[in-house]
Amino acid sequence: MAQQTYNELNPAQKLIYTCSNIKRSHVDFDDSDIAGIYLRDNSCIVVRNDGVENIYQRDLIKIAYAENVNRLVNFFHNLGPNYSGPSLWIGDGQPETYVMLRGAHYWHQESKNTLVAKTQRKFIQDNELNSIKGTGPMVSFLENDHLPIGHLVKLCNNSCSCHSFQKQYRILDLFKEEISEAFEPGCIHLTWLKTYKRFLQQRAALINSIPNGIPKKCAAWWYAPPDVKHPRGYGKLIILYTDQGHLAKKKEWKTYMVNKDFNQYDLWQKLFKMVENGYVPFNGQTALPQIKL
Ligand SMILES: [Zn+2]
Repeated sequence: MAQQTYNELNPAQKLIYTCSNIKRSHVDFDDSDIAGIYLRDNSCIVVRNDGVENIYQRDLIKIAYAENVNRLVNFFHNLGPNYSGPSLWIGDGQPETYVMLRGAHYWHQESKNTLVAKTQRKFIQDNELNSIKGTGPMVSFLENDHLPIGHLVKLCNNSCSCHSFQKQYRILDLFKEEISEAFEPGCIHLTWLKTYKRFLQQRAALINSIPNGIPKKCAAWWYAPPDVKHPRGYGKLIILYTDQGHLAKKKEWKTYMVNKDFNQYDLWQKLFKMVENGYVPFNGQTALPQIKL
């Protein structure tokens, strides 16, 4: 095996040409028995312990990397206690800077009792959002290695305090060289926050388009996280709709697609669809006290 002809991977390439990204781009990839991963021209070469080489397309792996880093994670992934969205923070004087908490309350049925969730509630209760000043102290607080509770996301300069973003940012030159000059660091939090803001804007535009501002066509959702024994499993999402306004009694609401099961991964698409179809979305748990599911 002429190993000396292979190029060593630089730090950016090591993040891109991983087993996970090769698998994402080449579904038949077998991630066992690997002696090394190398690059040659347009190929990514995986050498097995017995010396056999498998060749994969370098460009496809780059695309898989970027798609995965910027993927849209589920709606609950970045909500704080009581389904609260990210909070605008003015503690460093920059516009469009948000404190985004990890979705610790929605990991599973019992996760609201975890230390992360309790610390998040204390963070809000003690109003630490407004008492911590400066990016450094806020990032140290949120990204604490022992107890990370969230991230500082700056839409003003498209950045995030999370490890994924920071890793790309630190070696940006190598990423540009490997992927393209136009490459910009990204992460799941930036993608999520932009989607969340787009949803709120579209919802507000729909309400503004209703003559008296009081919507009749309304949809509402309720969510129960996965069972504690299957924290990576599906939660249960229920959607109701009515044309009698959001204060309508329970009997005036119909269940959306009653025979179909929905979960946390369906909510983004359903929220945008509600707005598209002229139904103003509500969080049933917080906005519709008259209905208990
Ligand atoms: Zn991030």
